[in-house]
Amino acid sequence: SHRITLGPLVAAIDQGTSSTRFLVFNSRTAELLSHHQVEIKQSFPKEGWVEEDPKEILQSVYECMERTCEKLTQLNIDISNIKAIGVTNQRETTLVWDKETGEPLYNAIVWLDLRTQSTVERLINKTPGRNKNHLRHKTGLPISTYFSAVKLRWLMDNVSEVHEAVVSHRAMFGTVDSWLIWCLTGGKSGGVHCTDVTNASRTMLFNIHTMDWDPELCKYFGIPMEILPRVRSSSEIYGLMKSGALSGIPISGCLGDQSAALVGQMCFQDGQAKNTYGTGCFLLRNTGSKPVMSDHGLLTTVAYKLGRDKPACYALEGSVAIAGAVVRWLQDNLGIIGSSEELEKLAASVGTSYGCYFVPAFSGLYAPYWEPSARGIICGLTQFTNKSHLAFAALEAVCFQTREILDAMNQDSGIPLTQLQVDGGMTSNRLLMQLQADILCIPVVKPSMPETTALGAAMAAGAAEGVSVWSLNPEDLSEVTSEKFEPQINPEESEFRYARWKKAVEKSKNWET
Ligand code: ADP
Repeated sequence: SHRITLGPLVAAIDQGTSSTRFLVFNSRTAELLSHHQVEIKQSFPKEGWVEEDPKEILQSVYECMERTCEKLTQLNIDISNIKAIGVTNQRETTLVWDKETGEPLYNAIVWLDLRTQSTVERLINKTPGRNKNHLRHKTGLPISTYFSAVKLRWLMDNVSEVHEAVVSHRAMFGTVDSWLIWCLTGGKSGGVHCTDVTNASRTMLFNIHTMDWDPELCKYFGIPMEILPRVRSSSEIYGLMKSGALSGIPISGCLGDQSAALVGQMCFQDGQAKNTYGTGCFLLRNTGSKPVMSDHGLLTTVAYKLGRDKPACYALEGSVAIAGAVVRWLQDNLGIIGSSEELEKLAASVGTSYGCYFVPAFSGLYAPYWEPSARGIICGLTQFTNKSHLAFAALEAVCFQTREILDAMNQDSGIPLTQLQVDGGMTSNRLLMQLQADILCIPVVKPSMPETTALGAAMAAGAAEGVSVWSLNPEDLSEVTSEKFEPQINPEESEFRYARWKKAVEKSKNWET
């Protein structure tokens, strides 16, 4: 058998909420050569709590790396061609570990988790005018259960192991990127404790103007700064892989998953946007070198900083907590589908929700409402409603939530988007994509290579190692193949359904009163 001659290869660890992947790309063509994926267990120990096991997360990364290397070897591709590894990850998810033993001190508290609702209420009540936007001028974020600082505060207050490790100077805090990079570069024997600006900007401890941890914010949440990782750019060498088949290869890219998707979709220009449909749904619009503050409930976040001496780029973000998670819920909690793929068939069999609206506010409502006390609601049921209608309503819910974000984004920027670039696991659902175009009344464009999050991280890693990935050259952009979904229903029909959805949202916000 012959050896394929390839350019340098770049790789990415994509550690998402529902699964971990390792992917290897040809830098000359951005072609995905091989990958492996492992599901991650989520536990729900109490109502509203969502946890994952840090060691399982780490093991899944090693497993994905090993299996991908085996597959490459079977393809006669020499793994020594891999020049750089990037990390992209579920954001905000909070971990604390002991730097001397290397052991996690608690499960990872997943971004969706609601246990900090009372902490958040207490903090908001302490601010002048009970203003949830009290810290927005520095962080770009409202005080919410979503971000890491309140999760870390909860761990320090409620887990004695964490408290003791903090007072005895043995604790390290990190989001998933920090945990992985520390472990992969040696852990307790010399691991590098760092994060990148995009992940840091989701903790609520980071000042997005000075681009560093903010002593006042840390004081506000009572977080000792010594437990925080060092903040680095999204593209530079953090350290080398310490063990395994890829030992010695630099880890040189790090981006939160939504930032990585923005890079992987090549939204480098002010005004360019993408929407990613995974566990949640996240629409980010590049706003260039200026952080733009939203008047319509969006977040201001660091989009990327592709090199130590490169400028930071910012984005406006609309975050929806529950998108693919509603599919998992229909499968695991109601059992009306056996797999996420079955949802499309079930929904397509009726092609309408028959007036049923489903607001899956399982973790409260994120953008544009930021209402932690909202809860899920299904309304408009009749004797006629069946599981197919419910399945359809669940897909529509994802589309309506995106419509709310897009409206907010258009109002904030004053320049409406004329089409929406999409990616993420849920975009394999073609019915969803068509519904989305119908509900937005603009075309929805999906790239044929769906792994844009991983590509973005691999691009950042390659850039630090002098390996420029093909996609960074604008003249090659025309080669990106994609699929376009055009709106097919009339705008009046679309508006009618959207108005009904808004009524359902009001009920989910006020269902207790
Ligand atoms: P994450 O990065 O958050 O782990 P992914 O981008 O991997 O998410 O997407 C996984 C999510 O997409 C899961 O919640 C899954 O239920 C959902 N999903 C995957 N395929 C489909 C499909 N064909 N129809 C609807 N939802 C799907």
